[in-house]
Amino acid sequence: MASPLNSEYNKNTMQRQWIIHIDMDAFYASVEQRDTPELQGKPVIVAGTPEMRGVVCAASYEARKFGIHSAMPTRRAIKLCPHAIVLPVRMERYVEISHRIHNIFQQFTSEIEPISLDEAFLDVTGSIKLFGSAEKIATDIKRQIKDQLGLIASVGIAPNKFLAKLASDLDKPDGFVIITEENKQKILDPLSVAKIWGIGKTTEQVLKSKGIYTIRQIREAPLKVIKNIFGSQTQEILELANGIDNRKVESSGEAKSLSTEQTFAKDISERDTLLSILLNQVEDIAYRLRKNNLAARTITLKLRYSNFRTITRSVSFENPTNTTQILWEQAKQIFVNWHNKSAGALRLMGFGVSNLQKAGTGQLLLFTDPQQQKQEKIDNACDKIRDKFGENILKRGL
Ligand SMILES: [Mg+2]
Repeated sequence: MASPLNSEYNKNTMQRQWIIHIDMDAFYASVEQRDTPELQGKPVIVAGTPEMRGVVCAASYEARKFGIHSAMPTRRAIKLCPHAIVLPVRMERYVEISHRIHNIFQQFTSEIEPISLDEAFLDVTGSIKLFGSAEKIATDIKRQIKDQLGLIASVGIAPNKFLAKLASDLDKPDGFVIITEENKQKILDPLSVAKIWGIGKTTEQVLKSKGIYTIRQIREAPLKVIKNIFGSQTQEILELANGIDNRKVESSGEAKSLSTEQTFAKDISERDTLLSILLNQVEDIAYRLRKNNLAARTITLKLRYSNFRTITRSVSFENPTNTTQILWEQAKQIFVNWHNKSAGALRLMGFGVSNLQKAGTGQLLLFTDPQQQKQEKIDNACDKIRDKFGENILKRGL
């Protein structure tokens, strides 16, 4: 609730909720530049070595001027900018800095939903009485991050998560953008359809072929046209186009599920390619479970066909687990069953776990299983390497 004490929001009585999205600018690269001042002002790339799935994890803004961006092969990045300074991932350090950023958030709210090391949503609706307007809170956070850590954050403030994330990206780097109930449609309307969550390259092309380029055009297009393209997602897409998003900020303490998903630049139908993507997703989620000392009883695969039809397949087991091998075997089984029956080109695949509980509870049986102990040791070793060198350094084979 906007407090009457904050005169700048007096006119904003419609706004029930204030969400801040914080996104650190070029995080890994900025941490490197901060730790080694000689790197400041220079094109810095943080990447895996070329032998180890060499892709750019982060590029400083000086490097981005050469067209370098994250997820680009390192070799190509070096071709674009031969004098770029390529550094290895120092995940431990980024985690440490990320904790310190979170400590700053904690002063203002406990409603924090981390998205990654360098990105989080904060629900400050309940903090406004104590700390002043959302704008003031965000200004304080941004200033503290700069003063205490020497790093720049881009900030978005809005009535919901979708708009807050959009806002933090609108004026990056060093952005500070406020979207309100009053100005949201004016801001959204001229933007590209690609700004809407769930609209990837493929769908963008389909929309363009119908002459739909902007969010306004989505809102104004005949419902039939939109329904043909989005199927069961139609309502969600139209809500977002109208700046409506009812998702809550889920602070980590109360995580009921963990999930990850990828929308592909091009639809993928090849079995082994999909399986290797799934394996990466399982590894990622298993790691996050272990880091949070959680175990899952249910796993879910989410598969979206090129025509937007989305199916989910779940399986639950008796003993909760966070062992990569067990989660992977189950996920693979679900995938293979699906593939045998109804394979098709996918535009999105996701993996998630739910029914979470503290690890170690309900698992007593497993302690005596030598096979299980062996898997736990492997996971432990992998986690340590991953903490140290980053997630791309070590991948299991299929
Ligand atoms: Mg960032």
